[in-house]
Amino acid sequence: MKSEPIPALIVGAGPAGIGCAVALKACGISAQIVDASGIGGSFRKWPRQMQLLTPSFHSNSFGAVDLNALTPQTSVADFLHTQHPSGDEYTRYLKALVIHYQLLVDTPTRVLKIIPKSEDTFEVKTDQGTYHAQHVIWAAGEFGQPEDGGILGAERCLHSSRVSDWDEVSRRGDRFAIIGGYESGLDAAINLMNRGKDVHLLSRGEPWGSDDPDPSRSLSPRTRDRLKEALLEAPGTIHFYKNANILKVRKVHSGYELLDDACTPFVSPTPPILATGFRHALEPIRDLWDWRKGLPILSEEADESTLYTGLFYSGPSLSHRGMLFCFIYKFRARFGIIARTIAERLGHDWKSPLRLWKERGFMLDDLSCCADCQCAVEAEEAHNPEVEDYETVVA
Ligand SMILES: Cc1cc2nc3c(=O)[nH]c(=O)nc-3n(C[C@H](O)[C@H](O)[C@H](O)COP(=O)(O)OP(=O)(O)OC[C@H]3O[C@@H](n4cnc5c(N)ncnc54)[C@H](O)[C@@H]3O)c2cc1C
Repeated sequence: MKSEPIPALIVGAGPAGIGCAVALKACGISAQIVDASGIGGSFRKWPRQMQLLTPSFHSNSFGAVDLNALTPQTSVADFLHTQHPSGDEYTRYLKALVIHYQLLVDTPTRVLKIIPKSEDTFEVKTDQGTYHAQHVIWAAGEFGQPEDGGILGAERCLHSSRVSDWDEVSRRGDRFAIIGGYESGLDAAINLMNRGKDVHLLSRGEPWGSDDPDPSRSLSPRTRDRLKEALLEAPGTIHFYKNANILKVRKVHSGYELLDDACTPFVSPTPPILATGFRHALEPIRDLWDWRKGLPILSEEADESTLYTGLFYSGPSLSHRGMLFCFIYKFRARFGIIARTIAERLGHDWKSPLRLWKERGFMLDDLSCCADCQCAVEAEEAHNPEVEDYETVVA
């Protein structure tokens, strides 16, 4: 194990870690990536049937880089010849980048603790030994930290991120309750409808009805298309329940009883599926960041900790000025910013090496886009599937 400080250590060999490593490599900086479970660790755990909902298209030569690409010069569509890659397919793209750009990846290596040292370095303790690094980029993702929505008895449920195959889940029964009505909830529902199941989707508010212009806050076109198709053609059925604030799940004779804040019961014969999202990616190292109102503060200049210079975050938990950077095409816009900052501090040239990053939207330094997201035309009024108010249905 190295004892000299390395210029940069990246935690996570997913899209964020690999994207940052390629940008650093362009500036002549060889970052060491470590990953607990291999390149594309999260994607390899996706359900077999899941696909990226953001589309890929080889549009790079017209200056519109493939939405799922991690470098300005590559296209996922061109490499994989598919529009919506599965987890395994996207992992192939990640591995190809590692080989092509000759990135350094140590795996399996799990980071256990990061200790800032006084001489502007970080001691990074892993299950394979200790690294010393001048800069650390936390790119460990959210997938390993499922959020249970604060539901008492959540351990009786099946979190959507623990599903490896919807065929297996569907063999557990004919009627399913899903808690959560965003992307993961709808993905679970559509998979079960396609297998002839009777699905009950319960959610706080009515997320499937949102027409917010920010795709991080409303259902993607891909999911709406899949839902329309399932409503028309799937052998199964779906019932939507808005304003269902489920607080507790308990085992009863006939299955699982879900209780909302008014203790109204809803019984599911199969373990409820939790589609309640993920915890913030910085939770495992929360002490190294200043937090306000439940969110870490990241510098606008470089997505850096305001407590420890040299510690950066890249990935889907990033937010600035209320804008969520949760898709690849959003958080990749900061790869060039992080690389530029590290290159500058190490005395490396970045202007010419990162020219393409700047030109193609991978070095976004004007965050005014985060506060001014307006569409030129109003969205057409959505046709919502029939939705029942939770209280009126179960009362
Ligand atoms: C179900 C789901 C569907 C999504 N669909 C899309 C989509 O269609 N389009 C899109 O743009 N985005 C999508 N996203 C957003 C998604 O989070 C990102 O696309 C992407 O996975 C985030 O990349 P990442 O590199 O930050 O994290 P990850 O891909 O999760 O990679 C993190 C890596 O860090 C490793 N790791 C974690 N902890 C440690 C540790 N302590 N030590 C060492 N290694 C560690 C993990 O093993 C993993 O390999 C989706 C997310 C989810 C959860």
